Amino acid sequence: MAKKIAVIKGDGIGPEIVTEAVKVLDKVAEKYGHDFRYTELLMGGCSIDAYKEPLTDETIAVCQDSDAVLMGSIGGNTTTSPWYKLPAHLRPEAGLLKLRKSLGLFANLRPSVLYPELRDACPLREDISAKGFDMLIMRELTGGLYFGERKTEEVNGVMTAVDTLKYDENEIRRIAVKAFEVAMKRNKKVTSVDKANVLDSSRLWRKIVTEVAKDYPEVTLEHALVDSTAMQLVRNPSQFDVMVTENMFGDILSDEAAMVTGSLGMLPSASLNETKFGLYEPSGGSAPDIAGKNVANPIAAILSASMMLRYSFDYNEEADAVENAVKKVLAEGYRTADIMSEGCKQVMCDEMGSLIAERI
Ligand code: NAD
Repeated sequence: MAKKIAVIKGDGIGPEIVTEAVKVLDKVAEKYGHDFRYTELLMGGCSIDAYKEPLTDETIAVCQDSDAVLMGSIGGNTTTSPWYKLPAHLRPEAGLLKLRKSLGLFANLRPSVLYPELRDACPLREDISAKGFDMLIMRELTGGLYFGERKTEEVNGVMTAVDTLKYDENEIRRIAVKAFEVAMKRNKKVTSVDKANVLDSSRLWRKIVTEVAKDYPEVTLEHALVDSTAMQLVRNPSQFDVMVTENMFGDILSDEAAMVTGSLGMLPSASLNETKFGLYEPSGGSAPDIAGKNVANPIAAILSASMMLRYSFDYNEEADAVENAVKKVLAEGYRTADIMSEGCKQVMCDEMGSLIAERI
């Protein structure tokens, strides 16, 4: 059956890296007999230039009518670009927040993989990086502290600010289910991260995750406190498979997990709703400093497409083929400028895309 893919190339390096991801998807379609139908849409700065708003209702409607969205990145240089002189609700990032909300995307997935060939970029001690790691952080995206009631007021002459961390059992259950489903496609281990020794919201989180675990007897569940997890991420990251956590903890831990790989251009991400639908994009931004030079690393975008194959289409074999092609190209010594090291062969963005597509 044909799969409808909304393609938002976006700004900066977005068009260059998404073009390579589509090249790889076309190769997958040819090899495995699939029919991918792409609709190109504008969002972010390019939409502001064309339509005077970062996201139009038509773009939302096409995305809602698609099986998945493949995105590059949006935004420009936040100091020099005229887009950032506009009111906040008309800036590029407002489009992305609105799109995520309109699509009901509540689970953000960010894999952090240390490839043996890129171990030199890892900032961790050699005995730790030697073990490698392959983990996925699942962050709740629409609740918790970032969406709770907040106010700043003067109480008895003292300025006081309040933020509210609130979760109900349904919000926790749906992300826990996603975490266990994703773990079933990986190494069958879930680490649920909370602060249950202090927070009520964490105690409810722990209780619901434990309940959901009963439906997944093949998956090992462990609970961990967020402070200890932050330490374990740099001490022994190889112990983790899927880590599931609330919005703010996930925001912080996913950046930490990205940093320990040392290669931003390699990191994909996915945001999912309750169905199989998802939005897939690199973890990095639009990199305006290198845009238009054909030097960006397209691997994060290509691996985002591979996540789309796995999580939205259930094409696991095809996703494995893309990931193996990436590993092969790295093992053969090909590198874009950002991950270049001595003795390797430096290639441009479009060459990297072709090398990966050829190995599928
Ligand atoms: P950035 O991630 O764009 O760039 C940080 C550094 O990493 C830069 O030196 C860049 O050249 C490099 N880099 C990033 N991706 C790369 C790739 N694929 N290949 C090679 N090098 C790569 O972060 P920034 O400079 O802070 O932000 C630039 C713009 O991107 C801003 O407008 C920001 O708001 C936006 N942004 C968008 C998203 C998104 O679309 N989801 C996410 C983060 C930032």
